[in-house]
This record gives sequence, structure tokens and C-alpha cells, in this order.
Amino acid sequence: MKAHKEKQVKKTIKIPTVLLALLMILCTGCTAEQELPKVSEVGFYLDTVITLTAYTDDPQGLKDGLEECGRLEKLLSRTVEGSDIWRINHAEGKAVEVSEETAEVLRCALEIGKRSGGAFDVTIAPASVLWDFKSETPELPDADKLAEAAGLVDYTKVELEGNTVRLPAGMMIDLGGIAKGYIADKVKAFLEARGVKHAILSFGGNIVAIGVKPDGSAWKVGIQDIDKPTGSHMLVVKNTGGSTVTSGTYERGFEKDGVWYHHILSPHTGWPVQNELASVTILSDSSMYGDALSTATFVLGPEEGMKLIEGMDGVEAVFITRDRQVSFSSGAEDYLIR
Ligand code: ADP
Ligand code: MG
Repeated sequence: MKAHKEKQVKKTIKIPTVLLALLMILCTGCTAEQELPKVSEVGFYLDTVITLTAYTDDPQGLKDGLEECGRLEKLLSRTVEGSDIWRINHAEGKAVEVSEETAEVLRCALEIGKRSGGAFDVTIAPASVLWDFKSETPELPDADKLAEAAGLVDYTKVELEGNTVRLPAGMMIDLGGIAKGYIADKVKAFLEARGVKHAILSFGGNIVAIGVKPDGSAWKVGIQDIDKPTGSHMLVVKNTGGSTVTSGTYERGFEKDGVWYHHILSPHTGWPVQNELASVTILSDSSMYGDALSTATFVLGPEEGMKLIEGMDGVEAVFITRDRQVSFSSGAEDYLIR
């Protein structure tokens, strides 16, 4: 009996001690996470200001993350001489070996090309190069030249087998509608491998998060008010470790004779897409898909664009029309904060 009693006493002491120890470990873990310093690094790649913000005691990780942007830009940029895309575009129809990274982006670009019935067309370059949206004194391209260029746009002619790419002479690839999303995903994976657990990474219209905020709450991502200066938000959505990508006409463009010419082009005509839409936001896990889909759905317009999104798993969309009407895909309202 006595022995038994002793055993019981021991047990009752043991359990709370273990629990207490566990609680203490957990709590010190929490506070350590919450006390991590917030650090940011800013860089300029792919014509875009990139801001990496993380709660981490490894600030060098963010610097290395930016270097990773530079490395990928050197593969994917159309204008960097010697990049994979530059080599494809200058191969005059010959086969070109590219990196695994470039092949991965091209595979996704061709997939979204197919799913969108060609609304997203990665061979848009002959048309896109005729537009200069950065000029102080922007001019419209010559209409005949643009029509001729549009005749060269056809993603179905891209041959991709493993890491080998062949493009008919005269055609050109432009990853402007997808590369930022891909790089965002890669930098996220890079930082996760460095142990980062809470970060928000901004690549122009592409926002990617690692986890949630250290206090456990979701990141808040603003969707630009289409009529107001940059930074004014029309809606705010949650991001709990995924991607929030917006494509909007206000991002790059110019006004001439009362018409706003912007950078999302019709693959059929080479002219900026004119429909009811002012912006499309895609909520997804992959920013590469989100990016391609934001451009694809914009070109398709609200009805066809929404059909494309509803047919895909784990992807939601918020469409804003020029007259400020907002529409949500079936699961998108769950993300809405205000
Ligand atoms: P942003 O670069 O502002 O994030 P988007 O993701 O919407 O914008 O992509 C627009 C870019 O995609 C253009 O600057 C051009 O390089 C390319 N592009 C334009 N129209 C198309 C299209 N129909 N299909 C694929 N890429 C396109
Ligand atoms: Mg895009």
C-alpha cells in the first residue's frame, strides 16, 4: 500500500513538472519568434523595386535573397545579353539549351497559354518591344508594324523538350508577364531554406508571404485603388503564406488623346487590351501561376477570365472594373478584410 501511495505521489509531482517545462519551452519559443528583429532589403531587378522584409536574425539572408533575384534575372531577361531568353531570341530558329529554371518558367507559360486559349502568349515580344511605356514623350507604334508584329505572336510554335527550346526565326519570347512571379517563388524558397519563418516579399504587383506575422496574424495586402495614387487601397486581403498578384492598367502606361495605353497587350492585335477591367488580383500558392493568370484573365476579360479561375484548384480572383465594380471568384471573399 505504502509503496503504491509513494508511487502515486511521485506521479502527481512528475506530471505538472513535465507540463511546466514544456510550457516554458513553448513560451520561450514564442517570445523568441516575436522578438526577432524586423529587417528589410530593397533592390531593383526586372524593372521593379523589390522589397524583402523578414523577421530574422540573419539579415545577410535577405541580401543573398536579392542576389538570387539578380542571378535569375540574368537567365530570364529578354534584354540582358547572353541570358537564356536572349539566346533563344537570337538563335534564328536553332535549338538552344537552357537552364532548368528557364525551362520551368517556359513550361508554365505554355500551360497557361493553352488554358487561356492563347490570351496569355509568351511570344508577345515582337509586339511588346514596339511599345515604350517608360519614355518621357511616349509615342504610339506604327500601326502597320504592330500588325506585322502581332502576326509573329503564337505560343504554339514554341518547341520545348526537357531543357531544349526551339523558336522559329523572327519570333521572340518575353517573360514580362510571368518572370516576377517565378522569381518571387524562388526567393521565398531560398529564404525558407535559410530558416526564415515570417516574411513578406514584394516584387511590384507580386506579393509573396512566408508564414504569417510573428504574432500569428495574417499579413494584410492592399489592392490598389484604380483611380488613386499608388499606395491608396480599394480593398485589403489576407495573405497567410501564399501569393497575391495584381495586374492593372495603371501599372505601366501613358495617355494620348484621351486614351490610356497600357502594357497588357492583345496577342491578336498587339494593341493594349481594352475591356471593362482595370485590375485583376490572383490569390494562389504559386506566384508564377498567379502572375501568368493575372495577365491571362485580364486579356480574357471578366466573364471568360472568371471561368478560367473557377476551373482551377486553389486559385481565387478579384476583378475590378473601370467603373469600380468588384467581383470575386467563389472562394475569394474569404480572403477579404475590408
Ligand atoms: P506587371 O509587369 O506590371 O506585373 P503583368 O504581370 O500584367 O504586369 O505583365 C505585363 C507584361 O507581360 C508586359 O509588360 C509584357 O512584358 C507581358 N505581356 C503583355 N501582354 C501579354 C500577353 N497577352 N501575354 C503574355 N505576356 C504579356
Ligand atoms: Mg502577370
